[in-house]
Amino acid sequence: MLNTFPQSGAYLLFDPGELAYDFGAEHPFQSRRLFALIDLLESSRLWQKSDEEGQLPFRAATTDELELIHTPAYIAAVQQLSTPLPDTASKIEREERERLATAYGFDEGDTPSVPGLHEASAQIAGGTLVALSAVMGLPEGGTYRSEQDRPLHVFHPAGGLHHAWAERASGFCVYNDAAIAIAHVLRASEAKVLYVDFDAHHGDGVQRAFYDDPRVMTVSFHETGHFLFPGTGDVLELGQGIGRGYAVNVPLEPFTEDDSFIEAINALLPPLVLAFAPDVIVSQHGCDTHAWDPLTHLELTMRGIQAQMKLVHQLVHTYCHGRWVALGGGGYDLYRVVPRAWSILWAEMSEQPLPQCLPEEWVTRWRPAWQALAEQEQAEQQVLGKAATPSSFPTTFQDRPEEFPVQARGWSISRTNQRTVALVRQLLLPPPVRQAFPHARYPSAMASMIDLLHVRGSATPSRSKTFETAKGPLLMRDFCPLSLVERLKVESGMCAFARLPEREHQLLINIAKSPDCSLTLAHTPAGEIVGEVTLVPGEEWFKGLVDVYEVAIEVSAHWRGLGVAQALLAFALEFETLEDVILFAMGLSWHWDMEGLGIPVYRYRELISRLFASQGFVEYPTTEPDINMEPGNILLARIGKRVDQHSVDRFMNRLHGSPNLTR
Ligand SMILES: [Zn+2]
Ligand SMILES: [Zn+2]
Repeated sequence: MLNTFPQSGAYLLFDPGELAYDFGAEHPFQSRRLFALIDLLESSRLWQKSDEEGQLPFRAATTDELELIHTPAYIAAVQQLSTPLPDTASKIEREERERLATAYGFDEGDTPSVPGLHEASAQIAGGTLVALSAVMGLPEGGTYRSEQDRPLHVFHPAGGLHHAWAERASGFCVYNDAAIAIAHVLRASEAKVLYVDFDAHHGDGVQRAFYDDPRVMTVSFHETGHFLFPGTGDVLELGQGIGRGYAVNVPLEPFTEDDSFIEAINALLPPLVLAFAPDVIVSQHGCDTHAWDPLTHLELTMRGIQAQMKLVHQLVHTYCHGRWVALGGGGYDLYRVVPRAWSILWAEMSEQPLPQCLPEEWVTRWRPAWQALAEQEQAEQQVLGKAATPSSFPTTFQDRPEEFPVQARGWSISRTNQRTVALVRQLLLPPPVRQAFPHARYPSAMASMIDLLHVRGSATPSRSKTFETAKGPLLMRDFCPLSLVERLKVESGMCAFARLPEREHQLLINIAKSPDCSLTLAHTPAGEIVGEVTLVPGEEWFKGLVDVYEVAIEVSAHWRGLGVAQALLAFALEFETLEDVILFAMGLSWHWDMEGLGIPVYRYRELISRLFASQGFVEYPTTEPDINMEPGNILLARIGKRVDQHSVDRFMNRLHGSPNLTR
């Protein structure tokens, strides 16, 4: 058991027993990549063995723990397949063994059953469970002298076996260590977990394990299943039952490259983490996304891979009290990519500057291993349709850009990815969250006018009106400037979209900062915000339509049934200029806080419909953006009196699936 670097709160968890997880020299998944990684970390002095301090109680997962995810029959089968048959085994025994292997997802080509697989897999599952328990303060993570000594970030490079299902092995994965560790946390605490998967392959096993569980949000960025194993991971896989809206899938195009990848993660991860409010993030850093990987086609370089690590690091500190477990995963360029990618991850987690050059001694040791493999890999690349570009062994941690020429079709590929990201945002992010984290916004008709009102609003009070309720008076104000929003507090019942009032405040601040957004608030005389209406330009779906605005409203759970919503909406929309634009409001049933409301979806839909009808909105049938997939969803619009017919026609075309938006 080796780990250290407690001064930054970061621990690296590695046990030599994990090296037994290996499918042999002919298989793409080889544990020699971990040898090369540990050697690189040590020879570059990013990490040293330490037996004295910062020990995590590494151990194998127990059968009870494995059963948190896997069926007893499957575990028994893995155990049996792990024990080699004696040479004296009969033909019948051999056939029975083969039948068992096939029944549980083992096959020679993909995931062969090899001796000792149960032990090695249970070891890896135990490692991730200990890592996550340590970060979450559970007893399995060990005892520490004080909270300051407790690990904040743990990196477990052998983990991340994300394809394993409850009852079968799949895609080189036997036990799903991430799912087991997360299930353990769910059992032992009240915590919510965000799992983010950067592997080139869809994180199907982890998604399946929590598909109906709203306490786990799974987010997977992967190469589209149209071209790659396991074929799943479509945007419309959203979760089921009360877990609907908690599975997020971002299928990216082959040849996505760094810039488009970075754009996608930045457009989605920060708003998802803010809105879901997880207690901890578990991230899987499969580096088979790299351009040199022989199995995949996303064509990233270390720049894109490092961006994902930096973003998660920033998010855990901003939103999760720093609690972070990072795992390895795929990575089939064993010597040129895996050791560098995961060293970069470790340097990020432990806040150490990344050296520029790889240590010469390390290059001398591992270049021959790569050379020996190179011939075989080139043959594999040709089989998989990849051009076998001549390349060399790297001498720096980062990639040299000149070795990765940009694809000619880059623009159209990133355009397709942008549409995918836009659809994910529409489906998974409630409107105010989307509005507070703008992605691709386009020129808006009212921008200059709203901007002007904001500026004026900061000098003189914005328009205001008092509204009397049975609970006391409320002050309504429109075009609220940033200075006002910062001064006010958010009342505790405002948590339908961001789930924590202080996060809701952050959303409102972000919206108030945007020059082309309008924010109308209702607050108590004591300065507590109990209602909000936001008005922002339509995003990607309405690209090219400068006069389309999205309206969203929220009223505190403690101030409902008092007529606040209707009064606030009327106040926000009575502005004369709005006759020049089309307003729309969208409700997707899985965004609605049904628990907080305590009423069925159809009833809520009716309430929304009636509320907006009071301000002249009409319900429209639409195929975009996939509103019609669920009867609880709704799209309402109000077309201003002075909007010309051409704009109306274009808007209607969008609602009925313009070819422009076809994915
Ligand atoms: Zn993979
Ligand atoms: Zn940190």
